[in-house]
Amino acid sequence: MRHILILTEVRFKKDGLKEKELRKESGSSVELKLLDSPVDRKKIEQMLKDKPLGTMLILYTGGATRKLIRHAANSAGFSHEDVRIGKIYTGTYRIFCSQCHRINGKASLEKSIICISCGQHLEPSDHYSSFHDAYLGYPIL
Ligand SMILES: [Zn+2]
Repeated sequence: MRHILILTEVRFKKDGLKEKELRKESGSSVELKLLDSPVDRKKIEQMLKDKPLGTMLILYTGGATRKLIRHAANSAGFSHEDVRIGKIYTGTYRIFCSQCHRINGKASLEKSIICISCGQHLEPSDHYSSFHDAYLGYPIL
């Protein structure tokens, strides 16, 4: 049975965990690691080198981080087919408006939004507030 390593950014943790559960149910040995922000390519590469041969890598990241990890994975001997992109589920994230402090429900973390309360254009960040149970949205000027 193939070893599976899931790498996820904090903001996609929910999706990563879901993937882990599904893979586990199908009998795979699964490991999930949260990525530091920003991602240290050297560190990732070293970590990947220590994985058993044929490990499948599943990524829950934004585009720039994905590219960086793909490069690190190639350097660590992973083939193109060993690296998969996880399906990011959009629609249930809560975004905290840094302008008016209103919570915007059902936002996607990959797209910017307009605050329902103050009309400010917001860029969702990966800063999660457990107090608000929401991600902080930065104003786009
Ligand atoms: Zn607002």
